Amino acid sequence: MTTVSAISIRNLVKTYSNGKQALRGVSLEIPQGSLFGLLGPNGAGKSTMINIMAGLVNKTAGSVEIWGFDTDRNPRNAKLSIGIVPQELVFDAFFTPFETLELQAGLYGIPREKRRSMEILRALGLEDKAHAYTRTLSGGMKRRLLVAKALVHAPPILVLDEPTAGVDIELRQQLWAYVRELHAAGTTVVLTTHYLEEAQELCDRIAIVNKGEVVANATKDSLMAQAHDKVVVVTIDRELTEVPPVLSQFNATLRDSRRIAVTYDKRCVNSGQVLAALATCGFGIEDVTTEEADLEDVFLRLTQSPASEREAPVHVA
Ligand code: ADP
Ligand code: MG
Repeated sequence: MTTVSAISIRNLVKTYSNGKQALRGVSLEIPQGSLFGLLGPNGAGKSTMINIMAGLVNKTAGSVEIWGFDTDRNPRNAKLSIGIVPQELVFDAFFTPFETLELQAGLYGIPREKRRSMEILRALGLEDKAHAYTRTLSGGMKRRLLVAKALVHAPPILVLDEPTAGVDIELRQQLWAYVRELHAAGTTVVLTTHYLEEAQELCDRIAIVNKGEVVANATKDSLMAQAHDKVVVVTIDRELTEVPPVLSQFNATLRDSRRIAVTYDKRCVNSGQVLAALATCGFGIEDVTTEEADLEDVFLRLTQSPASEREAPVHVA
């Protein structure tokens, strides 16, 4: 089965006028129908990529196709195929939400009888505020209005750039629910985030971007499967100064004098084998806990350079 791309990016390079190379030759296929996560630390190049797709930033080299339309050769159709929710909250404060959507529809050349402004506002829970001044809306309502604005021309692709940065938990849940709904109704959704849990919870496919390069691109499940390590920590009934020799077959360390941590690759070893080896050591086991690697470990491994080369610790919120 061949997958049709909603977005196809080839050898994309962006060097800003100050010399900053934000994208260093990115190639990426985003399949139609996916809920795709672009994950990466701050400054990785996510917004640059999105803004190039949106036609807001000029690329330095490479090509971008949106729904099969090349952004250079067919910019109009490319633009019609994508709706972008920007990272920054930008509005004309003197328009009402209804006017904002009508204006946006006008920009897209949608005739009055085909506009769905009220319907879209209703879907985003903004019906009550349709005729209020936008500057009187709460932050969460403004965020939803931006989503509404991106949907005015019913694009097959919706891109959300850091949709939940600085947004409270309740609104985050609302937005996630709505994104899932849109996706279920057939919209291809791309979202950028530096929140791992967001990508982990929402997306079926994830690309990890770091320093202007794609360092991973896989289904969420196969990325998660890259998190192979599992740790068993046992608390024993006496004090130790070193790891018992029988455990040398594993990667075992002392957490403290009474706790042994055994790290193993769960593809090759199971916890029963680890516990069996521990049982031959002659001490009593008082407590056993296990720790499993998650997407965060994969993310950190792929985005952290060795400590010597690191500029600053990668912050994962
Ligand atoms: P992300 O969205 O992943 O946080 P950005 O795409 O915003 O990353 O930024 C990527 C890099 O490009 C960063 O180092 C950022 O400082 C730089 N950058 C972004 N916009 C500009 C600009 N207009 N001029 C110069 N450098 C920029
Ligand atoms: Mg950004």
